[in-house]
Amino acid sequence: LNAICTPISTPIVLTIAGSDSSGGAGIQADIKAISATGSYACSAITAITAQNTLGVSAIFPIPLEHVEKQLDAVFSDLNIVAVKVGMLADCDIIKVVAKKLKQYKPAFLVIDPVMVTTNGDLLLEKVAIQTLKTELLAMADLITPNLPEGAALIDSQLPTSEQEMQTMIDALRLLGAKAVLLKGGHLEQDENSNDLLILPNSVQQLTAKRVETNNNHGTGCTLSSAIASYLAQGNELTTAVQLGKDYITQALQHADQLKIGKGRGPVDH
Ligand code: PLP
Repeated sequence: LNAICTPISTPIVLTIAGSDSSGGAGIQADIKAISATGSYACSAITAITAQNTLGVSAIFPIPLEHVEKQLDAVFSDLNIVAVKVGMLADCDIIKVVAKKLKQYKPAFLVIDPVMVTTNGDLLLEKVAIQTLKTELLAMADLITPNLPEGAALIDSQLPTSEQEMQTMIDALRLLGAKAVLLKGGHLEQDENSNDLLILPNSVQQLTAKRVETNNNHGTGCTLSSAIASYLAQGNELTTAVQLGKDYITQALQHADQLKIGKGRGPVDH
């Protein structure tokens, strides 16, 4: 009986991100992915989008003091091991989040530098990219840009040759994060979904067979949250990234079992 009553210590993961009212991306996807991978999720919401599977119709950034109060509330009470950062909306929110992460120093920090949705809606002001670079990215254990976000972070075009790719890898390392997961899944001509895990002295390729589905809303949010969850559970970075990739691949494989909305539906956790 004693064994049954002993509370299990589930690692706690905080997601700092935007709300997606349709439930497919943002905070909602993060909480599902963190829970499904066996960690406990808590949240600090940076912005509330009015959104469905067809697109974003409005964005309400949360007042700064309230972003700060959410972070103080959870960090002062919960034993947060890993943090995932998603949508930050604007420069001021980036600065508050950076200040609080410097204060509370979580063991693991994964940043998904969210900029636009796959439907083309802007989730981060263009001018805020520079603030993201100077204030936040260098603190991260891992940043998870897709190719267009990676190019925007280093102020370049998409690479079109091996040599340009190498230049991009070098420039991404200079952003100062311990590792970069450069996601190639948006390259639709490729029959595989190839991502590059860029480490200080090596580059590892992660390959999964491309899953053909219209239901891929929230893919990036889900992947970065799953990785943060696996890091919180004590996995090495490369293991956590591979487990996260396995998790998003199976979530995409099951996505067509769900029929949610008229547009790009969510992946299935
Ligand atoms: N909405 C919110 C609040 C998000 O944080 C994100 C991505 O991070 C999205 C929407 C976009 O998701 P997708 O590009 O998968 O449609």
